[in-house]
Amino acid sequence: MLNGITTTKNRITVYQVLKGRCNVFVVQNKKACILVDTSVSKYWNELADALDNFVHQGCIFTGLVITHSHFDHVINAHLAKQKYKMKLYIREEESEFLCKGYSSDIRGTNAVLRRITSVFQKQIQFFCRYKAVEPDISVSEDKFSLDSLGINAYLLHTPGHSTGSMSIIIDDEIAIVGDTMLGTSPERLYPPFAADPKLLFKSWGKLINTNCRLFMPSHGRACTRETLVEQYSKYN
Ligand SMILES: [Zn+2]
Repeated sequence: MLNGITTTKNRITVYQVLKGRCNVFVVQNKKACILVDTSVSKYWNELADALDNFVHQGCIFTGLVITHSHFDHVINAHLAKQKYKMKLYIREEESEFLCKGYSSDIRGTNAVLRRITSVFQKQIQFFCRYKAVEPDISVSEDKFSLDSLGINAYLLHTPGHSTGSMSIIIDDEIAIVGDTMLGTSPERLYPPFAADPKLLFKSWGKLINTNCRLFMPSHGRACTRETLVEQYSKYN
């Protein structure tokens, strides 16, 4: 049985269906569901079982939102799209990477990782390739409504970790933030990789400017608004 994580005031429920290499979420409103990110090959069967459970309960997957084109978020995207006939949404800055099966720029945020990612960028890109998949919608707007998918939510451009990273703001209460923050330690939300750290902190400000009370990252646990505000003040 799947565990509901949290439900908003308008009864939209966010389920975490996978953890491990990359958290994967299903956002459900009545019979409409959207999938957020897909994790890596090793988790495909587990993911498909979880999604089949929703389908057996009468849910229809209307969309697949990819927070950004890094391999650990997208390796199962072609399979999910094919099996459940979902429309794939990604930011326009990340589209061409997805179409070619490449991860967008991976840059470390501390001295050691910065050096490694700078010296070995080509090799990292080579090992982080995946099966290419065509997006259905390349999002260019700063805010993009998902009302047409049956979910009161919007996509918010939150660049920094990568140029085209985006978050999903659900019912103005819950945000799924991809790698815009890291949830492995509440004392440090700053991720180990970011193409543009200044832009990343600006995106934290954008997330704070929503009314969201909970922020769900792709790695680790959700953090509260209070934690994000406190961490944001350290870097600004
Ligand atoms: Zn990433």
